Amino acid sequence: TPEPAVTALTDADVAAMLPRPDTTSDKYRRGVVGVAAGSHGYTGAAVLAVGGAVRSGAGMVRYAGVAEPVAQVRARWPEAVITELAPGEGVGEVGRVQAWVLGPGLGTGAESLEIARTVLASDVPVLLDADALTLAARDRSLLRRTAPVLVTPHAGELSRLLDVPRERIEADPLDHVRRAVDELGVTVLLKGSTTLVARDGLPVRVNLTGSPWLATAGTGDVLAGIAGTLLAAGLDAYDAASCAAHLHGLAGADGPVSAWDVLEAVQGVVRSLLEPGFRSK
Ligand code: AMP
Ligand code: MG
Repeated sequence: TPEPAVTALTDADVAAMLPRPDTTSDKYRRGVVGVAAGSHGYTGAAVLAVGGAVRSGAGMVRYAGVAEPVAQVRARWPEAVITELAPGEGVGEVGRVQAWVLGPGLGTGAESLEIARTVLASDVPVLLDADALTLAARDRSLLRRTAPVLVTPHAGELSRLLDVPRERIEADPLDHVRRAVDELGVTVLLKGSTTLVARDGLPVRVNLTGSPWLATAGTGDVLAGIAGTLLAAGLDAYDAASCAAHLHGLAGADGPVSAWDVLEAVQGVVRSLLEPGFRSK
């Protein structure tokens, strides 16, 4: 039978894909997430993206950024291993990383571009969100790399990437998420009231969790961190993106929520899905 054009994941599907540590696990094998986010004056997005990764089960989160966000990340997340970058410095040898989250609060100036270029020069999967998408809209060649690329735009960010008015994307997100895959050659998670995940040759996954309460500042940064954890654990970009959207939606289902509430809820969501007695509903 031909594959359907559109599919959805159940709780049980996501539970089956979630990484489960076992006796052979160590923090490196469980997945090291690199986060390159935040900038002078924009520290919250870095704290939220690191938190999304820390709280969703990463083996280790490495954060690389400039002094101001470093101070905030260090104060809030003692779990994170931090590399402070000098102004204008790119991300060099920060130690082993299995996937990068690039962009929340990063800024779009020359110093941010240098960080983006050096992260994208690595040979591991990279998730681009927020300001990294603005940089990629200016220079699409940033997306050309051998290792996997996952982009996580909302309609406005996709509008800039595709040079299509935002209203047209909102009127037909399914068509535009497919166009984004074709034109950009990457895996795409299009955020919105309904989140879609698309990849070349596979059905578009429609996310069934979440609520309009998620429409609040910072939730996208948390989502990026969760997806980073799953990428670093070895899920491919399509599965990582769709599982992250599912978990994020469950964590933000009952409002009102702040981005911080979503971050704090995600651990319980993962825990409930991993329960040994878990059954599909
Ligand atoms: P961002 O646009 O990066 O701040 O991310 C916002 C997050 O909230 C994404 O995960 C969206 O899918 C979600 N979101 C935004 N608006 C809605 C809505 N009306 N209903 C459900 N989820 C939403
Ligand atoms: Mg965002």
